[in-house]
Amino acid sequence: MDYDVFIAGGGIAGSTAARFAAKYGLKTLFVERHKTPRNKPCSGIQFGYFEKMLGVKVPRERLCNYQLKKIKLHLPDGKSFGSKFHMLNFMRKPFDDWLNIIAQKAGAEFLDDCICQKVEEKDDYNIITLVKPKQKETFEIKAKYVIDATGLRPKIRSQLRPQDTSSGSEGGTLNYYIDGEADLDPEALYQFWNLDWGNAMFAWIYNKTLDDGKDYWVVGTGGNNIDVQEYQDRFYNAMKEKYNINGNIVKREGYKTNMDMYAKDRVWLGQNRILMVGDAAGLIDQVRGVGMDSAAMSGRIAARAIAYAEKKNKSVLEKYTKLMSRITRQTIRNQQRELNVHKSNEELQIYMESTMMKMGLKMVFQALLNKFRSGEKQYLLPP
Ligand SMILES: Cc1cc2nc3c(=O)[nH]c(=O)nc-3n(C[C@H](O)[C@H](O)[C@H](O)COP(=O)(O)OP(=O)(O)OC[C@H]3O[C@@H](n4cnc5c(N)ncnc54)[C@H](O)[C@@H]3O)c2cc1C
Repeated sequence: MDYDVFIAGGGIAGSTAARFAAKYGLKTLFVERHKTPRNKPCSGIQFGYFEKMLGVKVPRERLCNYQLKKIKLHLPDGKSFGSKFHMLNFMRKPFDDWLNIIAQKAGAEFLDDCICQKVEEKDDYNIITLVKPKQKETFEIKAKYVIDATGLRPKIRSQLRPQDTSSGSEGGTLNYYIDGEADLDPEALYQFWNLDWGNAMFAWIYNKTLDDGKDYWVVGTGGNNIDVQEYQDRFYNAMKEKYNINGNIVKREGYKTNMDMYAKDRVWLGQNRILMVGDAAGLIDQVRGVGMDSAAMSGRIAARAIAYAEKKNKSVLEKYTKLMSRITRQTIRNQQRELNVHKSNEELQIYMESTMMKMGLKMVFQALLNKFRSGEKQYLLPP
């Protein structure tokens, strides 16, 4: 056998799985299709508990200049509420690069510019076909366990379950990076819940530091089964007026998924010795508005399940499913509460007003309990 564990994808879930697998003494290879450091369209915002999930503190130089200290939430009727909440704010390029590096330092082997092409299951191992396009090289490796951490266009999952993905696009997001002035607080995350501006989750504004070390306003939104550009145009024009945003768009960033976000079995953890983690497992949560926490948790837990299965000669999928049960339950429950269940902004307004108070209290309570929980037992927020 070449490796105990092979991981496709060098994002949050892949690098976290690789680092923990190596720490458990498993011979591990993880590959990333892009040359690293690579860009990844993402708001790059997480709660403080993310460091506990990763099991390591994020170095200051991997974070944006402004860290976020408050959330400003806007309801469809224009009412707004603010609350203090500390959040990590980073760009995925430096952040994921750091995760790649610390996984290698823990002992995992890493190849960038390397595409996982296909996986063939044998009785007690898997044959993985890898392609290095620049070198025009195709080669095979053998690994006992495989982890698919290829994100929202999941490579291995689409091979095993073609019904879960389409050849086109099922949804996407758009971000504009603006160089200029605005009547906005760079330490706040602005969330706009409004069906005219996005049907997947809230539309957003926040401040971000790009590679040049300068700070930019980011205005963006997302949607499922729709033309995101239309939502983005409407949202951007409204925000320009509301906050006197005055500057040039220096970067436009889009992202598309081919997964059906409304499918009943979107959350799928794998088969036999092949485990799905992060977005590839369908764990992105549009109600919570995040996915990096469940990506890190699932990567870490997948590594633990493999270490356990190896030691005890037990089914890895059974162990992984058991350890993931709270996260999968929460994600599936939230999927049923996604924005598309509201037919109008009036309905969304009533729903938000009736749940906000309870949600806020639960959030404070679970955030407090999380301080005493271990990295793998963190309760995903908002609850
Ligand atoms: C616009 C936007 C904003 C978001 N904002 C937030 C946020 O603020 N906070 C938050 O928590 N979450 C956010 N999310 C969700 C978050 O980005 C994802 O949940 C998270 O990145 C999932 O991590 P992952 O490791 O599963 O996948 P990814 O981070 O997507 O990593 C997958 C990796 O696999 C690689 N890959 C793909 N195919 C192959 C292949 N065949 N071979 C080798 N490598 C391959 C990809 O290049 C990629 O690097 C946002 C998402 C979007 C689209």
